[in-house]
Amino acid sequence: MAARIEKSAFHVPTLQELGQVLQGGLKKNFANVQVSVVDCPDLTQEPFTFAAAGICGKPRIADVGGVDYLLPLPQTEKIYNLNVIANQVELPGGFILGAGAASFKAMGVNAEVIEVRSSRRTGQSNFVSCMRETLEQHYGDKSVGMGGTFLIQTGKAKLHVMPEFSPCPLNSNEAVNNWLKFFDMSAPLISQSVFVSRDLGFDLRLEHTHCFSHHGEGGHYHYDTTPDNVEYLGYFVPAEYLYRIDRPEKTLKIGRD
Ligand code: ZN
Repeated sequence: MAARIEKSAFHVPTLQELGQVLQGGLKKNFANVQVSVVDCPDLTQEPFTFAAAGICGKPRIADVGGVDYLLPLPQTEKIYNLNVIANQVELPGGFILGAGAASFKAMGVNAEVIEVRSSRRTGQSNFVSCMRETLEQHYGDKSVGMGGTFLIQTGKAKLHVMPEFSPCPLNSNEAVNNWLKFFDMSAPLISQSVFVSRDLGFDLRLEHTHCFSHHGEGGHYHYDTTPDNVEYLGYFVPAEYLYRIDRPEKTLKIGRD
């Protein structure tokens, strides 16, 4: 059966305006912040080693399935084909990056993205939450979606990986957290990230970041554990459209951190 697809346009500010908004918001949470509009570096090179050179073209966010297909017990028949998703978001053959359930998708050649450098965390929010919350405060009901990549250049971060599926139902955040395996992992970590400032009724995962490395560590990003010496360097672009694919009928609203 064909998956249900809902499409919605994001508010897309100019890169200059977004840069200024993010600069102001990150300043509340990091000692050093430098946001600029730059040419995207070649992401096929180290340390990124991505399949496409840049994040640009027709950037779109696809939120596919959801945690509610994993909880309380996994529906193992829910398997998605990235080639099919590329067609579903009307960019066949496009470059997809992102984190499991939420992927950010774009295609094209090099263009500008917003470069974000932040170091020494002084506030409570992680790097991605800080940017998302900043956009929500600034844009309110106008939802802004962004995706891209960032490096954790120094320090460590708390990440989780999923173990074997739990044989018993997971009905609470506490049960989910007891099932997941959490680790402190070391920089340099390469992250693929997506965030949406506000959910306008699509049951989205508002932010989702997965990290990998060339030293064998990786997982789902929660926050850095070394605020005094953490350094982030990221490249992001605003998305034009959201595609909500195969949204679960019912939601438990757990397991979204
Ligand atoms: Zn994840």
